Amino acid sequence: MAEEKESLNFIEQIIEADLASNKHGGDVITRFPPEPNGYLHIGHAKSICLNFGIAQKYGGRTNLRFDDTNPVTEDTEYVDSIKADIRWLGFDWDDREYYASDYFPQLYEWAIQMIRAGQAYVDDSSAEEIAAMKGTPTEPGKESPYRTRAMSENLDLFQRMKAGEFEEGSRVLRAKVDMASPNMHMRDPVMYRIKFAHHHRTGDTWCIYPMYDFAHGQSDSMEHVTHSLCSLEFENHRPLYDWFIQTLQIYPSRQIEFARLNVEYMLTSKRKLLRLVNEGFVKGWDDPRMSTISGMRRRGYTPASIREFADRVGIAKRENVIEFSLLEYCVREDLNKVAQRVMAVLDPLKLVITNYPEGQTEYLPTENNPEDPQAGTREMPFSKVLYIERDDFMEDPPKKYFRLAPGNMVRLKSAYIIECTDVVKDSNGQVTEVHVRYIPESKSGQDTSGIKVKGTIHWVAADTALNCEVRMYDRLFTVPNPGDDPERDFTAFYNEESLRILDGAKVEPSVKEVQVGEGFQFLRKGYFTLDPDSRAEHLVFNLTVNLKDSWAKVAAKGQPA
Ligand code: ATP
Ligand code: MG
Repeated sequence: MAEEKESLNFIEQIIEADLASNKHGGDVITRFPPEPNGYLHIGHAKSICLNFGIAQKYGGRTNLRFDDTNPVTEDTEYVDSIKADIRWLGFDWDDREYYASDYFPQLYEWAIQMIRAGQAYVDDSSAEEIAAMKGTPTEPGKESPYRTRAMSENLDLFQRMKAGEFEEGSRVLRAKVDMASPNMHMRDPVMYRIKFAHHHRTGDTWCIYPMYDFAHGQSDSMEHVTHSLCSLEFENHRPLYDWFIQTLQIYPSRQIEFARLNVEYMLTSKRKLLRLVNEGFVKGWDDPRMSTISGMRRRGYTPASIREFADRVGIAKRENVIEFSLLEYCVREDLNKVAQRVMAVLDPLKLVITNYPEGQTEYLPTENNPEDPQAGTREMPFSKVLYIERDDFMEDPPKKYFRLAPGNMVRLKSAYIIECTDVVKDSNGQVTEVHVRYIPESKSGQDTSGIKVKGTIHWVAADTALNCEVRMYDRLFTVPNPGDDPERDFTAFYNEESLRILDGAKVEPSVKEVQVGEGFQFLRKGYFTLDPDSRAEHLVFNLTVNLKDSWAKVAAKGQPA
């Protein structure tokens, strides 16, 4: 990995060559251009890290530009969430917050200029007629009967389109390029359409809106973006963007395409994510199972781990699919360094220490993070009645079971060695209580008992533990690429077990101080974070990631003490 990191990716190679030849006077200006029609997802995170990261690396700048050319699907709610997500990821666009809609007047001027130069015309054909005349990749298209319209008539009609004289769909403005071009995007693309729609920024000022293809390249140009990094699907649009730039004689931004990020079990299509929300598969855009940045934040993924993931994935020229476990690995690595360890019992079983004094509580020091010596220790209250994890006890264990069983001794983490003496069962034969005896001389840190045990288990004291709800998450889909099946809709692969709620969990009292968004480790269980649904009297935790990759081919043996 280290060697790979040092070698330059193909975009960095281009940029370094441009810097060496002083092509842009030493400037590196990139942009992140979201359309505010949904929440950002892991794919956007990749693009953000790439655009901001590369500008940072070369002392350049990155603009945030909202590509808001379609008033029907866009909303300020999305603008706000996008800004919050980028900031949370750790990037800043300073005062360079731009909107394609701010360029509407300039784009209109350019359209007029093109009409005057005979490079654009108003077409009265319907959308269906235009589509039918478009041809196919192997057959040339047909020229519209309106293509030869006089310049003065085009000018008049376009101005009247703007003035609101014509109905939606009745006319469009098209660029006069080449109906026989092998590139379908060059076959007289539509530049403007009529839409009587309220725009989130320009209100009702306009009833004609530029197409994305007539806005995007020029927006880059106006901002003097030196390197416009796009996903591969725009490769075929590049000749058109270049054609507009040449026709208008404006600053030539250079577009460079890279492969979109795809991650197993994660969707990277706003349209599909919106369906998951609307059809009730998840609770909202920020459901912790979602591949949105807001979902990952709520899940407890850290900005550093997502940045690291983006970095490790690198950039490619060809589509590929990244394993989900790489993302989880990055999350785990980061949390391992920073997350405080606490004890929580997710499936509690009562444990009574028969020889421990009734009503006594002692405070036992325990380390906050063995990976971080600076993290210090805290005091855990310990008393006669505790909870342990149900699966840390077996009445009739197999050989080499080192946890608690009749006649077996284990250490309670940071406390004492105990020995099981008895169990209490309900009428169904289910164990409801385990009775143990503790060894007073075996206190952690001052053990003089001389007893060696093979297992250590975690616990919480019954009288001080806090009740909580723990939401356990699994992959949202049952197959890695739910969108790839030609026969079945991706929702057919929804994993019904992607959310499992444990409502009777118990957690040590120190988490009272925890804030939403803070990540910590429930010892032996995984990394968790407090959910915003949490209330003082009802704490709610989300599973961020398991301690080990439970899906890894080589299953981990046993649990660490
Ligand atoms: P969607 O298909 O989810 O609607 P989009 O590409 O239409 O995505 P935009 O808001 O236009 O969404 O995207 C903003 C930027 O993010 C674009 O530059 C786009 O190339 C980039 N981007 C979107 N998805 C990915 C992805 N999966 N991998 C890398 N970059 C992406
Ligand atoms: Mg888009």
